[in-house]
Amino acid sequence: MATCPECDAEIEVDEFDVDKGDKLSCPECGSNLEVIGLTPIELDIAADDDDDDDDDDDLEDDEAEEDEEEDEEEDEPWEE
Ligand SMILES: [Zn+2]
Repeated sequence: MATCPECDAEIEVDEFDVDKGDKLSCPECGSNLEVIGLTPIELDIAADDDDDDDDDDDLEDDEAEEDEEEDEEEDEPWEE
């Protein structure tokens, strides 16, 4: 018995039936899992560029424009 690292579901895996590196999918959440250890059986989420929902890195494409303080001398008409 192994545990899905994604949803914690118990997955029946026969340790004599799998090898390190074997891929299987969780019946509960459908994640692609990879066998990373045999005794006890450990599963890890298999990197699959097919289903890449890695959207937790927020790209800052909306850069806040800071107040640009330009040295602009006030153009006041000087009288001599
Ligand atoms: Zn799962």
